[in-house]
Amino acid sequence: MSDNVFPVPAEVASRALADNAKYLEMYRKSVDDPAGFWGEHGKRIDWIKPFSKVKNTSYDPHNVSIKWFEDGTLNVSANCIDRHLETRGDQPAIIWEGDDPADHKVITYKDLHREVCTFANVLLAHGVKKGDRVTIYLPMIPEAAYAMLACARIGAVHSIVFGGFSPDSLAQRIADCKSTCLITADEGLRGGRTVPLKLNADRAAEKAPVDTMIVVKRTGGAVAMTGGRDVWYHEEAAKVSAENTPAEMSAEDPLFILYTSGSTGSPKGVLHTSGGYLVYASMTHQYVFDYHEGDIYWCTADVGWVTGHSYIVYGPLANGATTLMFEGIPTYPNAGRFWDVVDKHKVNIFYTAPTAIRSLMGAGDEHVTRTSRESLRLLGSVGEPINPEAWMWYYNVVGDKRCPIVDTWWQTETGGILITPLPGATPLKPGSATRPFFGVQPAVVDAEGNILDGATEGNLVILDSWPGQMRTVYGDHDRFVQTYFSTYKGMYFTGDGCRRDADGYYWITGRVDDVINVSGHRMGTAEVESALVAHPKVSEAAVVGYPHDIKGQGIYAYVTLMAGEEPSEALRKELVAHVRKEIGPIASPDLIQFAPGLPKTRSGKIMRRILRKIAEDSFENLGDTSTLADPAVVDDLIENRQNRA
Ligand code: ATP
Ligand code: MG
Repeated sequence: MSDNVFPVPAEVASRALADNAKYLEMYRKSVDDPAGFWGEHGKRIDWIKPFSKVKNTSYDPHNVSIKWFEDGTLNVSANCIDRHLETRGDQPAIIWEGDDPADHKVITYKDLHREVCTFANVLLAHGVKKGDRVTIYLPMIPEAAYAMLACARIGAVHSIVFGGFSPDSLAQRIADCKSTCLITADEGLRGGRTVPLKLNADRAAEKAPVDTMIVVKRTGGAVAMTGGRDVWYHEEAAKVSAENTPAEMSAEDPLFILYTSGSTGSPKGVLHTSGGYLVYASMTHQYVFDYHEGDIYWCTADVGWVTGHSYIVYGPLANGATTLMFEGIPTYPNAGRFWDVVDKHKVNIFYTAPTAIRSLMGAGDEHVTRTSRESLRLLGSVGEPINPEAWMWYYNVVGDKRCPIVDTWWQTETGGILITPLPGATPLKPGSATRPFFGVQPAVVDAEGNILDGATEGNLVILDSWPGQMRTVYGDHDRFVQTYFSTYKGMYFTGDGCRRDADGYYWITGRVDDVINVSGHRMGTAEVESALVAHPKVSEAAVVGYPHDIKGQGIYAYVTLMAGEEPSEALRKELVAHVRKEIGPIASPDLIQFAPGLPKTRSGKIMRRILRKIAEDSFENLGDTSTLADPAVVDDLIENRQNRA
């Protein structure tokens, strides 16, 4: 790993909200007196009834309970819209950039107010009430933000399902949270191609019926509407008022559910609540991106991921920022699209994922250098460890050696960024997420949960709560306790491994268990495996990731066929097509190895670390194989491996 250090440029420190001295002072206060610190910073949002209690949290595995600002009341949508109307009514809230470079739209705070009130009234007119769950399956169009904020306005709980997911994945998520209303669009548009969202939604609704399906017209493509259930959004919007009084919600009322990738079973419905989440999302957005009034801010995530929730919609809008929302992909119409959009809208702050950086790096510097990018002041990265080569390219070529990079580590569960540089305070080291945000107490533990001091390596835990933390797994509090608080008693277990260097900087080394990250899309191996096993010719499957130049990780599937079935190229293609249909194109296996047997422990568990090594083409040291039920299967796997250097 690189230990290059990039000091904070003097001009960045002088204009920043926090220089190093200020960071250290605020951090100290935040961990010495969390209630005092968050009591003060909790006032950054508007409360209808102010809170008197700040922190009431317990990590005791017998009684895990997390409450922040619990006796306060507020409305999240009013905080993101109404409170800005007087001072920023005509300022752009959202700049929407379409898939087609000729398509863009500017939505001011006044416009946003009108649109969200209208959407809220449509939901109310269709019987959606406070506490009801609403599933949102939309492309990256302004209506996605309107729908989220409309739910927040009336106190409904949204659950967004990424538009790249298949009908089955959508159905599973609708059923788990018992949504009665589904919001979708006729079609999505990405890279010049349409995505049949309404058709997928219809198929999902066959398995998980909903009372109401609200359909936004995006492309005008032909779709079937089911009488008594489906309505066009634009027709319903024309029937309702554009005024709506926000509901008074308790700080601990649910704001949204978002399903994780489901590495170890069915996806977990991560539940976030209102007050603490908004305080944390807005404060991290302001400090991490050193956001100043008037800045144009762009996060390239999809609203189907948590980054889209906290750092396209809730954080920036709570701060009265201008947030850019992009419908398309980084390589359409060419690999310079991001930088063309930066120049077109004079973007100051740009936040993306390492997979996008790596793929654009591969497309050649000329797509970048032909653009000006002089508006850029700060760059950000999220989603996986950024390799030092990609960091250097981002810094030198995209940022012209001018723009600090904030490498932000966090999770769906954490609601907001936990470990990150602050641009005016933190010298950077390529590949390190550096230091904790205010109020965050990371620690490194060994397998037994002993806290390790100084420069060390182990598992990353967090010792105490922060306001943006998830509150439960929807409908399954036991699973919440089991997953995050049982491995190490009294600590939140992140599931990630990390190293801490002599300067106290954190380097995330990846997850302790197995999840595949394909082009920034996270997927549990279990989901791909269950899709493969669902095929009639497959008896067993094990899926692991392997290093892939463009995607970050590729999908490597070991497949055992039913007795009597013969491996063939045709079957390989059939299995890839099958997974695409079951889950979506992002889950297509890159390599399939037909394996007569899989390495298993005597208790029947597949030994993935062995499969991972073979997939990586590095099987010299397979570690302890003494617990294998049948060591001979390993030789066959090595013999027939698919990824050879
Ligand atoms: P599941 O919990 O179902 O397995 P997931 O963990 O893949 O899903 P997310 O919550 O979106 O889904 O991803 C969080 C994970 O992404 C972190 O735990 C970490 O492994 C990785 N990650 C995110 N940002 C960074 C970063 N800046 N550096 C290193 N790793 C990161
Ligand atoms: Mg996770």
